[in-house]
Amino acid sequence: MTSGRRRATVPGVRERGGRVVVLGGGPAGLGAALALARAGEPVTLLDGADGVGGLCRTRRREGFAYDLGGHIPFVRGEDRRAWMAELLDGAVRWVGRPVASVADGRLRRGRYIDQRPDAPFTPVPEDGTAAGYLGGLCGAGFRDRVMRRYLEKVDGVPLERITASRAHKLDVEQRAPDGFWYPEDGIGALMDAMAAAAVAAGAEVRLGARVERIDCAGGRVRAVEAGGERIGAHAVVLGIPPAVALRLADPAPPAAVVPRLGIRSVALVFLAVDRERLSEEAWIQSDDPAVPFARVAEFPNWSPRMAPPGRTVLGLECYGSADPPDAVWSLTDRDLGAACARALVDPLGLLDDPGAARLLEVVRLPRAYPLVDARRQEEAARPARWLAGVEGLHGAQGGTIMTAVEAGERAAAAALERAPVAG
Ligand SMILES: Cc1cc2nc3c(=O)[nH]c(=O)nc-3n(C[C@H](O)[C@H](O)[C@H](O)COP(=O)(O)OP(=O)(O)OC[C@H]3O[C@@H](n4cnc5c(N)ncnc54)[C@H](O)[C@@H]3O)c2cc1C
Repeated sequence: MTSGRRRATVPGVRERGGRVVVLGGGPAGLGAALALARAGEPVTLLDGADGVGGLCRTRRREGFAYDLGGHIPFVRGEDRRAWMAELLDGAVRWVGRPVASVADGRLRRGRYIDQRPDAPFTPVPEDGTAAGYLGGLCGAGFRDRVMRRYLEKVDGVPLERITASRAHKLDVEQRAPDGFWYPEDGIGALMDAMAAAAVAAGAEVRLGARVERIDCAGGRVRAVEAGGERIGAHAVVLGIPPAVALRLADPAPPAAVVPRLGIRSVALVFLAVDRERLSEEAWIQSDDPAVPFARVAEFPNWSPRMAPPGRTVLGLECYGSADPPDAVWSLTDRDLGAACARALVDPLGLLDDPGAARLLEVVRLPRAYPLVDARRQEEAARPARWLAGVEGLHGAQGGTIMTAVEAGERAAAAALERAPVAG
């Protein structure tokens, strides 16, 4: 079988045949690799990390299991639920208390946005601000009284600089008013199952394979290089952030394409407590600026398998800035753990004694997600537009787990549509 593709050769770099190469083994890359393998297409997935899942990993320590921050798969529709259940051999469960929030010292069911007056979710303006969007949706009073503190705490900038699409993502894409389906062994189990199913269908999954270059000579993707090996590709699916793909593209894009993006960091603090449960909630939002975390997940309320009997484990998400380091990021792991434990006592009232919480670990994600400034949305859209102009490159971007999986599947379909015909 020949594809008629031309191959550039680079001295000292070994060459392999053309196929679809998927970059990144998070939900987007795994969604693409699984769809391609099940369609019978030769596919290689490359990830620089030592495991699949990207941000959707489940860590295990001392009999506890915990995700890298709470990770609700916002599964919409019976087909997708069945897809997840089949992959996990039925090991999914319904969590009936999704997210609570703290206001005036009280724990209330529902997120801050869920406390809004009964208003339908409206279409998101493409270039608006979160302030404008939420004002239109809930009224300026509710927005400023209930929403502003929480969103500004998470993103670290005024609501006027947060994009409308981000606020829309946080209210519409992340809605689970009645509850959600969740893998019994954590979100990482779904990622592992996707990778195993892709391999069973014929995909090659390579870990520890950091991509160093995407050869786009002549405006068409030709190969990917990782670890000194050149892998010929007639199509490449980008399950990595567009800004990273831009840095790898050769020839490099014009400087005007490269956006000035802020980056938000998250320090994830994991605490173990020798008590059955501290709350009945899966996830609790806190908008209090004096509390270092914006959300606390109590994992045994997601799945009882995540802690040994009589013990519980909490994941506290501290959003901040690593560069330059802000007050929270600058704390040592130990001090950050102690500050989180104190906040569980006061003001959250979930614990009587901070000494009862033992620090398991702090996982720092210095580049957790890009912060698009509402005043620079056109600039932020340039990388994806430029990459879409390279023949054979297929972007797969989604802001949540399931939208990322679906973006990967759409990119796979596009790669299959344009796959070279054997002859
Ligand atoms: C704290 C936190 C909580 C969240 N909670 C939720 C939630 O409740 N529900 C929800 O739906 N979403 C949630 N999200 C968002 C969700 O994690 C992301 O939308 C999703 O992981 C995006 O998937 P992805 O495949 O696009 O990217 P990622 O998961 O970031 O995966 C990208 C992969 O690419 C690899 N990679 C990067 N560069 C290279 C390279 N040069 N070579 C090879 N490999 C490379 C990385 O190692 C990584 O494995 C949360 C995110 C955070 C940070």
